[in-house]
Amino acid sequence: MAINKDYDLETHMEYCLQKQKPVPGTKRNNKLVRSQNIKRILLLVKNLEPVSMETLVQESSLTYPTVLGIIKYLEKESHVENIAYAPTTGGRQAVLYGICGIVRYVLALHLNGDEVDITITNIRDGKIFHATEAMPAQAVGQDQTERTQSIAKRLVPLVEEVLRKTRLELSSLVRICVTYPECTRVDPQQLSDVLEASLQVPVSTVSDRRVLNFLERRSYHISSLQQYIFILFERELSLSMYRGPGETSEGLLPKTYFGHMTMDVAGASCTCGKQGCLQSYVSGEGLLQSYSEAAQLQGSTWNSALEHEPDLFHAVLAESYKGDKAARVAIDQAIHMMAVALANVIKIEGISTIVLSGVFTSTDVQYKRFLEMYVAEYLPEDYPSAPVIILGTSSPSDCSYAACLMMNAQFFESLSFS
Ligand SMILES: [Zn+2]
Repeated sequence: MAINKDYDLETHMEYCLQKQKPVPGTKRNNKLVRSQNIKRILLLVKNLEPVSMETLVQESSLTYPTVLGIIKYLEKESHVENIAYAPTTGGRQAVLYGICGIVRYVLALHLNGDEVDITITNIRDGKIFHATEAMPAQAVGQDQTERTQSIAKRLVPLVEEVLRKTRLELSSLVRICVTYPECTRVDPQQLSDVLEASLQVPVSTVSDRRVLNFLERRSYHISSLQQYIFILFERELSLSMYRGPGETSEGLLPKTYFGHMTMDVAGASCTCGKQGCLQSYVSGEGLLQSYSEAAQLQGSTWNSALEHEPDLFHAVLAESYKGDKAARVAIDQAIHMMAVALANVIKIEGISTIVLSGVFTSTDVQYKRFLEMYVAEYLPEDYPSAPVIILGTSSPSDCSYAACLMMNAQFFESLSFS
């Protein structure tokens, strides 16, 4: 099966679990049946832990001796362990099984400008280490290859140092994952190649929007959505599409950077070198322009110190909260621009539920309502459903942890017992 970039492995696991009924054994396919049953039991332990033999027998529809045999095998292979005992009901206390948490670990690094965020979890999603370290200044300013090399040179000793602190061995790491913001000035593939060669551990790289979408899906109100557009709005604006566990096509838009969608070919200049990008209107030159123009019209002064803010949208938003009317106009304009872009995506993709993460906190409900209202204005009048914007709760500070959870899900998905 082709794996989609934004394919949600966890949901896929649940989906498979529901679909796979135990296959009746024949001599020819006995081996295959056994390997499928082992995986079924392992995933049941993972989803239900702490879980008793009795529950596993019930849930799997396998016989008691079969489940017992599988559990013994999984214990021997350090996948499953006895993690607790059921409360006594007078007779013998039942053993409760769970995923073995002490043999396998994952480590994730989130590259965030001048900083790198590191998280280690065990295979049971338990966080055992987290820290934020500074990136060296020499990691900026050269061409992409040199920059990537210099970051890799910093990351290798950093990983080794963290392992020493946590008394873990490189060999206990199942995988390392590096997450990065959209439009990063580092080559993710090259970085993962260098790290893999130096550390001898499989390394994968994945964008922030994908790991945060994965994390967001674990929250109750979002996991129940069949499909939605996921927008991460931090320093960059990025977009992912979620179309349910069975869907493998990615849609058109995630292949282009959402933030650099052209809104006006002759518009304000953007950090990417082009003109009139959405990014510029929501958090760049375009936003500054509308801010200073509004100030001129109102005969007020604008806070020109903002020009040097790396995160312009939030800086101007903060000014608007302080009562700066020109900032208010500029933010309104930015939200209009975002609405135009979103309405275009909705028209193409046919999905009008948007999970918006990063930009607003729960106190900005007002702006969420504006955005919903403006998107509705830019959709055709006969559009079948009203746009709904759900404020997500994940932020880039969750990236390395989210990446660990994602790697753990992938680890279980990739296991085979043939
Ligand atoms: Zn751009």
